[in-house]
Amino acid sequence: MDGMTANDITHVVDADRAHVWHHLIQHKPFETGEPRIIVEGKGMRVWDQHGKEHLDAVAGGVWTVNVGYGRESIANAVRDQILKMNFFGGTVGTIPGALFAEKLIAKMPGMTRVYYCNSGSEANEKAFKMVRQIAHKRYGGKKTKILYRDRDYHGSTLATMSAGGQDERNAQYGPFAPDFIRVPHCMEYRKHEQDGAPDQNYGEWAAGQIEEVILREGPDTVGALCLEPVTAGGGVITPPEGYWERVQEICEKYDILLHIDEVVCGMGRTGVWFGYQNYGVKPDIVTMAKGVASGYAAISCCVTSEKVFELFKDDASDPMNYFRDISTFGGCTAGPAAALENMRILEDEDLLGNTLTMGARMVDNLQALAEKHRVIGDVRGKGLFCGAELVTDRDTKEPMHEKMVQAVVADCMQQGVIIGATNRSIPSKNNTLCFSPPLIATADDIDEITNAVDGALGRVFA
Ligand code: PLP
Repeated sequence: MDGMTANDITHVVDADRAHVWHHLIQHKPFETGEPRIIVEGKGMRVWDQHGKEHLDAVAGGVWTVNVGYGRESIANAVRDQILKMNFFGGTVGTIPGALFAEKLIAKMPGMTRVYYCNSGSEANEKAFKMVRQIAHKRYGGKKTKILYRDRDYHGSTLATMSAGGQDERNAQYGPFAPDFIRVPHCMEYRKHEQDGAPDQNYGEWAAGQIEEVILREGPDTVGALCLEPVTAGGGVITPPEGYWERVQEICEKYDILLHIDEVVCGMGRTGVWFGYQNYGVKPDIVTMAKGVASGYAAISCCVTSEKVFELFKDDASDPMNYFRDISTFGGCTAGPAAALENMRILEDEDLLGNTLTMGARMVDNLQALAEKHRVIGDVRGKGLFCGAELVTDRDTKEPMHEKMVQAVVADCMQQGVIIGATNRSIPSKNNTLCFSPPLIATADDIDEITNAVDGALGRVFA
């Protein structure tokens, strides 16, 4: 590792152990073991504090580094921009802010406005606030309810957790905000767990379950429906056929805004710019974060249609009729500067095309593994966003215990391949191995990942 002595590394590890509060983990293991520090990255690979090389099959752990590590052109774009003008917040605009908005909107027919913020949670909060303000402005304080789906995740803040469909994440953080209403998920593989689910046309039926909730709550009280196009942390749930078409019809029928959370799927992850574009849906609000600048800068966007924006336009009778919201670091130029270059790379290197080809290879490879390893109950995927669900029994589909799933992840890590498992906790529905490499993955990379999984499954379930 360039320029670091053994002493430097020991210092870093000690400082981390003493002072860093890591995300999503208990710290007991660090008392005897070391926290893992990622020191360098290039392309698809990262190196830890011991110089051990890893192939990254999770794009920075959380579906983020879409264009891979060590992109000099992004670093240069950010450097040039921040030397010229690093920040101005509040009511003003900036050059990269305007240019990225123009470029982004060109990829999103039907959408017209970009609201800048910093994280996926924040973008979703902005969307929720827009829906609430519209409810007050247009519907006399009714239509404040926001529907969200079981197993979907929209963020870590209290409002986004109020819209959180993963109980294991929400436990002990309540009480939550009112008027967030849960609707059922659409997981075909686990439809046997849903009362009344049909053998045929499951997608339409699952969307119909949302309509039932709307009718129960009263359509005049429901302002928006918020969904992930492909559910990420909740189990890599790809939507069944016919689902999205029906969801769109339902939203139109009851005058409900469709908010699509593209925090994970946005910027090419599924092989198209945005996950919803796989299904021909026309959203009113789209939120995005992770892949927008591939982790080279913190940026998120809440994008709306003109129909939504219009509702906030000047109104002489109501001086409060504008979006009374701000995000300090929405004025950072590093984000849109990085995002512009990130998008250029995605286009010039045809990474969307690559995602489709490599995603198909990943699914084929995983399906071949399923022939060999009976613990793989289901293989799902859209582009380079794939999952393999582990079960103890293919007939009952009893989820594999998370300890075993974690053993597979650990074995792969040992082999130098970082894979994920969707957020593991109790109750253990979190039994799905997750693969979301940077979109630059080659055929050799994909094969290396699935070969590692093959070896790991063989050892763990010997
Ligand atoms: N929405 C989805 C679908 C996510 O997966 C996440 C994070 O993983 C978020 C929102 C929250 O994003 P952030 O952690 O940037 O706040």
